[in-house]
Amino acid sequence: MQILAKCPQCDAGLPVSAADAPAAIACGGCGRDIPLKFTEAVRADRSVDRCPVCDGTDFYIRKDFDPTVGLTVVIIGALISATFYWYGRDLIAYGILALAALIDLVVYGRLKDLTICYRCHSEFRGAYERRAPVFDLHTADVLELEYERRIGRR
Ligand SMILES: [Zn+2]
Ligand SMILES: [Zn+2]
Repeated sequence: MQILAKCPQCDAGLPVSAADAPAAIACGGCGRDIPLKFTEAVRADRSVDRCPVCDGTDFYIRKDFDPTVGLTVVIIGALISATFYWYGRDLIAYGILALAALIDLVVYGRLKDLTICYRCHSEFRGAYERRAPVFDLHTADVLELEYERRIGRR
């Protein structure tokens, strides 16, 4: 399992591999030591049961989506389609637009799910079983506030 640990102090993302991660890492952004407490399940890539950064047990999943890739496909599609439109071939132009949207959908559907910690926003990628529910704004509000109070940000 690959983890992007979020520094509690400066929010820098620090990539660590759960299988051979040390007991603590130093943040590349602010130099703060971040202790990591891995459970057996996280080490073995079985499931995300407890966050190694903040000790939280509440997670959500979302698609591991890079928005810039989708946008690039749509912009290129729009440019090509505008060319055809200019020459009066609007049927071809609409066809290309539809195709770009379709490519976007296919790419989106093939994306893997990624697990994110509600409290510290650390990200978990791996072959483990996805058990977390989808994002819930109310849960996020409550847990983020609790976490920020605990680490002294509020
Ligand atoms: Zn930091
Ligand atoms: Zn966490």
